Amino acid sequence: MGIKSIDDNSVTLLTSGQVVTGIDSAIKELLENALDSGASAIDVVLENYGRDGVSVKDNGCGIVKSDLLNIAQRHATSKIDSFNDLNNIHTLGFRGEALASLCALSHVFLTTSADGMEGYELDLNLNLKNLGDDSHFKRLAAPKGTLVRFEDLFHNLPVRRKDFEKNSAREFTKVVALLQEYAMLNPVRLSLEHFLKNKRQRTLQCQGTQLIQRIACIYGAKRTKTLLKVDLKLSSGELSGYISKRDFGMGDAATVCQLLAINNRPVKQTSIVKTIVEVYKQYNLTETPFFVLNLTLDPSSYDVNVTPDKRVVLLHDEYNILNEIRDAITRVFKSEDHVVPRSDPP
Ligand code: ADP
Ligand code: MG
Repeated sequence: MGIKSIDDNSVTLLTSGQVVTGIDSAIKELLENALDSGASAIDVVLENYGRDGVSVKDNGCGIVKSDLLNIAQRHATSKIDSFNDLNNIHTLGFRGEALASLCALSHVFLTTSADGMEGYELDLNLNLKNLGDDSHFKRLAAPKGTLVRFEDLFHNLPVRRKDFEKNSAREFTKVVALLQEYAMLNPVRLSLEHFLKNKRQRTLQCQGTQLIQRIACIYGAKRTKTLLKVDLKLSSGELSGYISKRDFGMGDAATVCQLLAINNRPVKQTSIVKTIVEVYKQYNLTETPFFVLNLTLDPSSYDVNVTPDKRVVLLHDEYNILNEIRDAITRVFKSEDHVVPRSDPP
């Protein structure tokens, strides 16, 4: 066959399919953009499980017209200039490929205003084709912030489209879980509405300046009574949040929320989760803890660019961090005022 370069179109499909793996990862990317824009309110709307469209609206900084010319081009970002900036990254995004990938796999429309007066509406797919041309921008009055809407996800990846249509109800539960995670980790007002056959169902509404308020929004006030506050200094950073009191663990390890974030980015860091659960098991043999914990670390002490979804983080000093977390969590349970006998949550 000989060695030759794959054509650009195919490369785009190959790489986009790894960034946008399902409707949940598409929504995750838009949510992260909204959070990076400094929004205090984010509204997500799904039509028929997202099969007919998804929109994410924020009241963040919006996008100025000159930037709209570059938006959705692959690896175009306002968040880093070069690779070294990752040593001091404070945004959730930085790879500049989410919108480009979404455009490659669906039809994307964007409405934005950076000042709350002058706004623009554009078809992002056209944006890609007409480099440097703003003839498809529609000027309109719009509130400050950005709305991104995508339709026909995976229209050009038949296997994935079929899979999505077949499993859209199951995928929807992943979307709800994802929104719950981001709602707990961020002091913003976040809502999810679902329209099923034109019938409106609100599925999530969460806000609160304190983490405990947001946990109450999602899991109920009763749950918060079963939790211990964690606020620990480590030599490398801080660990803060809430974890089940030792007598109030949960039964079902498969469904309990064990949310770990590093600098407010939800991560899949099984080594840390395992360590926390192991310590908990020393105090409660039969149950597993609910927890929402954020590890604050210097961004130069880990590499977040391991997978396109940035959910896996490589810690430079994992061994020591694990030891410190083990000791710190042990201290939390040792100091727990252990007077409440096992009963229903107080
Ligand atoms: P990244 O988030 O990695 O920069 P994206 O493709 O997700 O890449 O977004 C590209 C750029 O578009 C961002 O860097 C940002 O400047 C802009 N952008 C995207 N979504 C929003 C939004 N909701 N509000 C403001 N700017 C946005
Ligand atoms: Mg992004």
